[in-house]
Amino acid sequence: MRKVGFIGLGLMGQPMACNLLRAGYELTVYDRNDHKVAAVVKEGAAGAKSPQEVAEAAEVIITMLPNSPHVKEVVFGANGLYPVLRPGQYFVDMSSISPIAAKEIAEKLEEKGVHALDAPVSGGVEKAKAGTLAVMVGGSAAAFEAVKPVLSAMAGSIVLVGPAGAGQTCKLVNQMIVGVNIAIIAEALTLGKKAGVDPENIFQAIRGGLAGSQCLEDKAPRMFSGNFDPGFRINLHAKDLGNVLETSRELHVAVPLTAQVMEMMQALLNDGHGACDHGGLALFYEKLNSLSLNREA
Ligand code: NAD
Repeated sequence: MRKVGFIGLGLMGQPMACNLLRAGYELTVYDRNDHKVAAVVKEGAAGAKSPQEVAEAAEVIITMLPNSPHVKEVVFGANGLYPVLRPGQYFVDMSSISPIAAKEIAEKLEEKGVHALDAPVSGGVEKAKAGTLAVMVGGSAAAFEAVKPVLSAMAGSIVLVGPAGAGQTCKLVNQMIVGVNIAIIAEALTLGKKAGVDPENIFQAIRGGLAGSQCLEDKAPRMFSGNFDPGFRINLHAKDLGNVLETSRELHVAVPLTAQVMEMMQALLNDGHGACDHGGLALFYEKLNSLSLNREA
């Protein structure tokens, strides 16, 4: 399969699409913002005027959109893919959306003989640029094997986690672990600072022990510099935790820690910090305790 369609050319989608071009795929792209299409056309892609045009041109259609409503609109909305999809095509949604929506979409596409995979990613813009994203996939083993070469152009690791929706469930688990981790790092360092101990000394002392983690390595230095340029934005993480809570309610699972972090993120959104890196959870604790983890403060 050489003909690939790509819809959603944002922070992540644009470098992912460019890596497909570099790998030699014939790429047709669409975004609702024309200038984002133009930027990838400049790199060698064909530009489409609608999701339908992408579906007509491609054997594999990839989406990289903000959330479930955007993916549903592109598939089922005006000028959406659905009416022109052909049996044997592949639909791969790499956005982070609700597993409930992912399953609904997959069921409707399978009715048309279209193979659907949910394949959200972890790794952020840097790994999207480097083509080393971690991809977690839900769907059939046969569809997974068929599109694996295409995904390899964008990924460092690709794991089939289970049936339709399993990739999105895996992504939610990832986001729960990361969100709670960052919150407790900010909470604990705040206590340390209030007790009069330099948080950077605490970081150096504990990073090699059991409390050490990739979250600690990436987020604690941001808290000490007060630089919360993203990285991964609070508004996207809040979107993911919203999907966790929708899923946990549907499954009757209690997720008290995630719910707490969601409330913190809501407060940060209300304070205008949505575009900050999620390490900015520190700002919630700083306001609550009238102190700053920033070494300059
Ligand atoms: P983004 O907001 O930068 O890009 C989304 C793109 O989708 C935009 O270009 C927008 O114009 C386009 N779009 C939205 N609705 C559309 C529609 N109906 N039709 C056509 N185009 C439409 O977001 P992003 O950072 O690229 O993230 C995309 C997805 O990847 C999200 O689900 C996010 O949670 C996930 N993700 C992001 C990161 C990250 O670090 N940014 C990391 C891992 C996963």
